[in-house]
Amino acid sequence: MLQKTLADFTDKEIMPVRDKIDDDVTHEKIINPILKKLQVDLGCQRNAIPKDYGGNQLSIVACALKQEQVGRGDYGISMHSAVTEWCWVPVLLAHLAPFSPKAKAWAKAVLDEFAPKFTSNEFHAGCFNMSEPDSACDIENAQNEGRTIKVTAKLEGNEWVINGNKLWASNAGIADLNCVICNMDPKLGIDAFALVYVPEPWPGVSHGKPEVKCGMQSDRNNSTYFDNVRVPKEWGLQGPEAWALFKNALAAPMPLNAAHAVGILQGAFDVLLDYTGERVAGGKPIRQHLSSAMILGEMASVIT
Ligand SMILES: Cc1cc2nc3c(=O)[nH]c(=O)nc-3n(C[C@H](O)[C@H](O)[C@H](O)COP(=O)(O)OP(=O)(O)OC[C@H]3O[C@@H](n4cnc5c(N)ncnc54)[C@H](O)[C@@H]3O)c2cc1C
Repeated sequence: MLQKTLADFTDKEIMPVRDKIDDDVTHEKIINPILKKLQVDLGCQRNAIPKDYGGNQLSIVACALKQEQVGRGDYGISMHSAVTEWCWVPVLLAHLAPFSPKAKAWAKAVLDEFAPKFTSNEFHAGCFNMSEPDSACDIENAQNEGRTIKVTAKLEGNEWVINGNKLWASNAGIADLNCVICNMDPKLGIDAFALVYVPEPWPGVSHGKPEVKCGMQSDRNNSTYFDNVRVPKEWGLQGPEAWALFKNALAAPMPLNAAHAVGILQGAFDVLLDYTGERVAGGKPIRQHLSSAMILGEMASVIT
């Protein structure tokens, strides 16, 4: 049912305009109207919000099915949707899984404050703001235990104070909520690791120019600058539990990305199938020649 709904959505809303998506630099003409239909009308911006907060609380498998179908139409649209889910994964896990009362209180504070926006009929986006200019895959590498993170979060009274630069995150600059990957003191590794939620617009948060890419216009990638950004203490969690949630959150996109890749392959294969059916050479459509049919068959067997 979910797969069929999203397949129909992709065929109806994305396929007819996908050749024009890369030209929609402001996102206003084509991209945002599609995102609003997917994220608000079909409810995908609620996918990683718990049911008791009005969310869909979808499984990873269900989210992966979405990625496959939407990715078949446009990589960036599906990436946008997945990253909003990603932003919510740490609090979703803390809320549902057996974590400490401290982690549960953090999840409750974040959900109480921000979930109502995402379950409303307004369009909202989330950002998992992790990568940095000097370290991206080295932050993802758990062996480094968060020691390469340079964005710092310090506790001052009842507030977190965040400073530093993030780079490349999807939805940065358009997101209403960031899950910011920080460290209180990188030398201390996991013990000082912190996950802090920062809404936008917010004093001290700014962005650079969106990255120019080829074929991924609807996935907005941007830098984020944190300049003495102050948020309430309740919106951040530090220490080994935050680290455990981060590691789990890093695993979550893997099946989504795999399904995403299958969708992209399927989309490319569909184009190829059309072309080889229309192009006539040697007296018949080229896909009816044995050599072409063998290649197409081999490709189809890899995708499905
Ligand atoms: C389309 C797109 C969307 C993205 N979305 C997000 C997002 O939503 N949130 C976010 O935070 N980031 C995002 N990123 C950034 C992404 O997470 C990083 O690009 C990724 O982690 C790889 O980091 P890097 O590009 O800096 O590679 P680098 O860190 O430059 O590493 C490149 C290569 O160098 C080698 N290398 C690096 N360090 C070491 C080492 N210590 N030892 C040995 N070899 C090493 C490895 O071979 C590695 O593969 C996105 C990037 C893209 C392109």
